[in-house]
Amino acid sequence: APATQRKPDWIRVKAPVSKEYGNTRQLMRDLKLNTVCEEAACPNIGECWTKKHATVMILGDVCTRACAFCNVKTGMPRKVDADEPAHVAEAAAKLGLEHIVITSVDRDDLPDGGAGHFVKVIKALRAATPDTTIEILTPDFRGKMRAAVEAIVAAGPDVYNHNLETVPRLYPTIRPGARYYASLRLLEEVKAQNPLVFTKSGIMLGLGEERLEVHQVMDDMRSAGIDFLTMGQYLRPTPKHAEVKEFVTPKAFSAYGAIARAKGFLQVAASPLTRSSYHAGEDFVEMRAA
Ligand code: SF4
Ligand code: SF4
Repeated sequence: APATQRKPDWIRVKAPVSKEYGNTRQLMRDLKLNTVCEEAACPNIGECWTKKHATVMILGDVCTRACAFCNVKTGMPRKVDADEPAHVAEAAAKLGLEHIVITSVDRDDLPDGGAGHFVKVIKALRAATPDTTIEILTPDFRGKMRAAVEAIVAAGPDVYNHNLETVPRLYPTIRPGARYYASLRLLEEVKAQNPLVFTKSGIMLGLGEERLEVHQVMDDMRSAGIDFLTMGQYLRPTPKHAEVKEFVTPKAFSAYGAIARAKGFLQVAASPLTRSSYHAGEDFVEMRAA
């Protein structure tokens, strides 16, 4: 492998071996739930699942898009599982979660893009675990954004996350099928619908973006009223995916984090292993208590 594909020391993580990891895994299997932790081959799975933090991926495990950084399968998606909302709620109850993160594949094939299913999941969670705060991480609902956001925000999530993923210049290669400004508008629309919902977004670093481009993305996010920001190192899931152009040092991540805080984000997570759902619960609970 070229030097840039060799992982530096700060990326290495412990193998998942704990008993609690096994329990979380079994529960997801029993309830037939997919997780982005597994599908995205997330490096934090050992740590997160030991703490019972799993990010559930609803609407199946096949995506209608094919982003160059993403390990999720692409193709013709399966039928939506009508039992999934109940299963997600059961998982949250059994895990005793204070905070749950729900994400999905893109379902450009569905008339509502899957928004109605998000609503059902939020309602099932509210009924089964009223004290659990809910963070959703949605697709961009291309062409159906306004109706989708309206329905989902009305269901009352605590945090609405949608990742910009990278700087606009890199969209054609990294996130084809998505539009940078459409994603920003989605997050703006959430705030317009209900300013009490926290909005959140994130980008991956190491795809060839430049420092000033990252600063510009932060400014664009603040202009759209985005409250929380996550930044993490892009890792190539397989050799078929986009190349890592750079391993951004922990020090550079800290510098970005400091700049983001100065720009007014309420909460910033910036480190090589930061993912949009990494420590999301702890950070959210801590912020609300502050
Ligand atoms: Fe799952 Fe997010 Fe933790 Fe990764 S960081 S293991 S995706 S909860
Ligand atoms: Fe992966 Fe989401 Fe892109 Fe689908 S839309 S390929 S799940 S990043």
